[in-house]
Amino acid sequence: MKIEGSNAVITGSSRGIGRAVALHLAERGANVVICCRSRVEEAEEVKELAEKAGVRALVVQADLGTVEGAESVVDRCVEDLGGVDVLVNNAGLFELYPIHELRPEDLDRILRVNLMSYFHTSRKAVADMMRRGRGGCIVNISSIVSMIGMAGGTAYAASKGGVTGLTVCLAREVARYGIRVNAIAPGYIETEMIGFMSEEYRAKVMSRIPMRRFGTGEEVAKTVAFLVEDATYMTGQTLVLDGGIMID
Ligand code: NAP
Repeated sequence: MKIEGSNAVITGSSRGIGRAVALHLAERGANVVICCRSRVEEAEEVKELAEKAGVRALVVQADLGTVEGAESVVDRCVEDLGGVDVLVNNAGLFELYPIHELRPEDLDRILRVNLMSYFHTSRKAVADMMRRGRGGCIVNISSIVSMIGMAGGTAYAASKGGVTGLTVCLAREVARYGIRVNAIAPGYIETEMIGFMSEEYRAKVMSRIPMRRFGTGEEVAKTVAFLVEDATYMTGQTLVLDGGIMID
């Protein structure tokens, strides 16, 4: 799968990791579908920056917590750009609840956005990739929290663990169509998602990272690009991108 000339849907690309992925793919020549839930202005800014790279870009505002919303981001790519070659499932919510305070509606919201939307976009994207017969690539953003745990993170970790299961099974299922499915499990990446951390907490976390720094959205973006274009014999894998936390 060549990035140049491809059509890529990146969920949650109004900011954070998704923004970096969308801009990196655009700089490498992909037409991009920028997706947001509510931050339309920020998504429009990403679109303008992407277009400066000479590619086509469009913004889709949709709540990925609904089936229709998740399906719509792929539908728009097919309708407006002619098909989808690359799907980056990235949108996510990070919410922590002690299990005895986790309400059914909190669990439901987290699973719908972080896991179920990945199914709905993938269903649509795979159908289009099979129809066009040109193969394709899906990259799912998971998290090391599903591997090492975090107090209060049961729902979040379960959603991300589900992403791993989706990744390996779908990879087996669609390999015969030339579609590869991989995941990235980031550690701490400098975005709004970890903005809740106090200076003291950040310092404590940092001391447990062998590389002694948080990652950047650009570093995740380059790994996405590697999976899309260079990792031609890799499927069903989850790449850990955590500055060494898992080996500590
Ligand atoms: P972020 O800065 O909080 O951005 C989240 C993105 O997801 C935004 O574009 C947001 O859209 C979108 N989004 C959230 N809920 C949505 C919904 N219901 N419908 C549609 N879009 C929705 O997060 P991030 O740090 O870039 O994280 C991106 C992914 O990486 C997530 O899956 C996260 O779990 C994973 N991850 C992050 C870290 C980290 O340390 N940052 C670590 C491991 C894994 P709006 O802007 O419109 O709200």
